[in-house]
Amino acid sequence: MEKILEVNDLHVTFTTYGGTVKAVRGVDFHVNKGETLAIVGESGCGKSVTANAIMRLIPDPPGKISNGTILFHGKNVTTNTEREMRSIRGVDISMIFQDPMTALNPTLTIGTQLMEGLRQHQSISANAAKQRALEMLELVGIPNPKERLKQYPHQFSGGMRQRVVIAIALICEPELLIADEPTTALDVTIQAQIIELFENIQAATGVSIILITHDLGVVAKIADRIVVMYAGKIIEEGTRREIFYNPEHPYTKGLLNSVPRLDIKGEKLTPIEGTPPDLFSPPKGCPFTARCPYAMEVCANVYPEATNLSDTHNVDCWLQDKRAKQLLEATTVR
Ligand code: SF4
Repeated sequence: MEKILEVNDLHVTFTTYGGTVKAVRGVDFHVNKGETLAIVGESGCGKSVTANAIMRLIPDPPGKISNGTILFHGKNVTTNTEREMRSIRGVDISMIFQDPMTALNPTLTIGTQLMEGLRQHQSISANAAKQRALEMLELVGIPNPKERLKQYPHQFSGGMRQRVVIAIALICEPELLIADEPTTALDVTIQAQIIELFENIQAATGVSIILITHDLGVVAKIADRIVVMYAGKIIEEGTRREIFYNPEHPYTKGLLNSVPRLDIKGEKLTPIEGTPPDLFSPPKGCPFTARCPYAMEVCANVYPEATNLSDTHNVDCWLQDKRAKQLLEATTVR
């Protein structure tokens, strides 16, 4: 499968008066052409910072990509100039943010906002741009697109505004769409509609999607592969089936146990006790040690190397490390 994006050993830091926050600490993942990759984890685990780093939207200072490469079709975007990035953003890689109301300009019509990016990046006539804007509104399921083009954001409901934001993100036909919590600000019914819209758009356009979310229900519906982030690291990654049916990291299991299930009546949710570690001085060992019911002495002192459970399933946990199994077997024999 063709990889369109490869992130290698990405580190992002933020310098503050209180010290340096190590927000992303050596992240590796890739996105295949036409797939949906979900990045999941609690707030503050580094999901959005990773997405902003791909778009080179980390404000510098105080933020900095301190190490690593982000290869888009093999070209490292971390060394691009701002001018080069402007020709990539919205054209090759687009991003949708959490709150559709703040993503839209309240003083401009939807039509103007839809056509703005198109006319900036492509030499296209006003009529052709308008035609394309109408097509996009139709694609995202907005009724009466001709009328809607002349309206302002406040004349749209939350769900309709998110559809407009998706249309703007897709109007230049990007190869990669990064959606950062695209359904969080919407009610449940509208969330389902937006997720269905993503599926339809991917089928129609073949766009690759990075979906950033803490909502595992959304992930279960549309992700092909999932990476789980914790304290600025990827602690498990696998296909949707591997993560949902065979999770191996205690944190991933904790996330799944905290999701309400409609098929079990009266079931109590099990939250993950405790809080994530302080990223001003992250622990040298496994960052989940303080919250993990299976923590061992080694966990606090040495970070576990990734264990490959299959070609697609990797986990960073001492419980899965071959050396731990050998130790256990040796102990049992004696
Ligand atoms: Fe728990 Fe240790 Fe595995 Fe970390 S490495 S998740 S502390 S068992």
